[in-house]
Amino acid sequence: MLESVSSIAQRVLNGELISRYDARALQAVGGDDIYDLFYWANKIRIQFKGRDVRFCAIVAAKVGGCSEDCQFCAQSSHYQTAVQGQTFLTDEQILASAEHAQRVGADSFGIVNSGRGPTRSEMENWLGPLLGKIAAEGKTRACATLGALTPQTAEFLHRSGVRRVNHNLETSERFYPQIVSTHPYSERLNTLRHAKAAGLSLCSGGIFGMGETWEDRFDMVFTLRDIGVDVMPVNFLNAIAGTPLENQPKLPPMECLKIISICRFINPTVELKVAGGREVCLRDLQSWIFFAGADSTMIGNYLTTYGRSPDVDHQMVRDLGLAWQSYHEGPVMPESERPRMARVSHTGRYQIPIYHEADVELDVEKAAGALKA
Ligand code: SF4
Repeated sequence: MLESVSSIAQRVLNGELISRYDARALQAVGGDDIYDLFYWANKIRIQFKGRDVRFCAIVAAKVGGCSEDCQFCAQSSHYQTAVQGQTFLTDEQILASAEHAQRVGADSFGIVNSGRGPTRSEMENWLGPLLGKIAAEGKTRACATLGALTPQTAEFLHRSGVRRVNHNLETSERFYPQIVSTHPYSERLNTLRHAKAAGLSLCSGGIFGMGETWEDRFDMVFTLRDIGVDVMPVNFLNAIAGTPLENQPKLPPMECLKIISICRFINPTVELKVAGGREVCLRDLQSWIFFAGADSTMIGNYLTTYGRSPDVDHQMVRDLGLAWQSYHEGPVMPESERPRMARVSHTGRYQIPIYHEADVELDVEKAAGALKA
């Protein structure tokens, strides 16, 4: 066994948080010693998270037509991808997805919207009541990925019955301007701050393989540890044709596993979730994610790409001698069937301070059209 890995691991197992210096030592591990890294990450996983793993599932309620220019994203209207224009699922389709998520053992079910942030109309007339319905059923945790949040929208989600919000940092603050130019990193940090202040559990991680350095990776993972996120999704770039990152090579499977392990060393108590890019980047090594330190993964399809059948993931977990833990926290009752957002006077017509008025008009019109359809 490589001494430095085992001695760092012992410190983690004894409850110590590792430093960036330690993380660099782990990053330097190569050759056959990489298996030592996995071995100890697995030990850390079992000590702090137990043997059960968790699944979560998502549904894209509003797809495409996004004003933002995130270079990894098929839904940005800045790029010519297969996702053109904006489409909406019906309430029935979203509720059917929630029911399916619960049936396949998803601990959490997230409604995801494209766009910089939710509008008042979407929140009050569409997503709030829908999320409230899912929360009240109590069969899976209601989670929301709606872009940037304000104190008002975060608080509204909590009153609607939502108990977790996903908003990824995506990468380091240093590398971020090379990936997104239309909204600042601070907006992402503020969203997490507002969500936490509203009593929401935080799910935030990033995408690896966009051209960032290991130092960028450490920046992001240590920042997420400092913020105290509850769930940390690890996505591997699945390059989308038509985006600026379309020619970015896939990360090799062993590098993906190394990233997972180092994340586990840095943040031993987080729910470490392997999400997008699992199938295409890890290929036959997908089942290694748990041995490498993850305790959670996404089940079913992603936002604009397909995942594999839930049956296959169930079999994978069973074959490893593991089990998955479904949601067991029971119903969360919304404050009312139609909660209203708190009004604030200084943020414009729709009380969404981060939008240009023209964008809001566009989104509200389309959302209203979809709601009537
Ligand atoms: S804000 Fe969300 S939907 Fe819009 S481009 Fe960025 S990641 Fe895609």
